[in-house]
Amino acid sequence: MALLDEILEYNEEFVKEKRYEEFMTTKFPDKKVVILTCMDTRLFEMLPKAMNFKNGDIKIVKSAGAVINHPFGGIMRSLLVAVYELNADEIYIIGHHDCGMASINPEKMLEKMKHRGVDEKTIDMMEYSGVDLKGWLRGFDDVTESVAHSVNMVRNHPLLDTTVPVHGLVIDPTTGKLDVVVNGNKNR
Ligand SMILES: [Zn+2]
Repeated sequence: MALLDEILEYNEEFVKEKRYEEFMTTKFPDKKVVILTCMDTRLFEMLPKAMNFKNGDIKIVKSAGAVINHPFGGIMRSLLVAVYELNADEIYIIGHHDCGMASINPEKMLEKMKHRGVDEKTIDMMEYSGVDLKGWLRGFDDVTESVAHSVNMVRNHPLLDTTVPVHGLVIDPTTGKLDVVVNGNKNR
């Protein structure tokens, strides 16, 4: 059976048996926190548990590597919406050790795209017309530096309320141990 069919079959039972009831809450985070973290599978349940958060406590924004590509892109917009529309009073940017984005090689990824049918001419044309594809796809060498960079970008964003603390942390995806990179209570 295709995964989608399995999901839909399960979902029908889930709704019918009212298994949603244990998750019922509002769209406003009880702990007034928004977290930006990585899409890594190991963090899916563990990160909130390692921080003692449950459903309803926080907003989570995810991107590969917890990276903010652009100061006026979708990730930054999500953080601003969380602060201004959904009552988040603190921002946490949490990278993790052993992150897939640390080992991304843009040249190899472009090769994979070509192998899967993306026309080489399309890629060449984009690069000739000034799109920095390799820069866009590139990850980071050092997660601590990357988190510090993101905190700096958010902290100095012209549209962010300067009283909102922006914290930077790195989590161990095996043990859940958090290390503080930037304590946002000190850089306001
Ligand atoms: Zn990651």
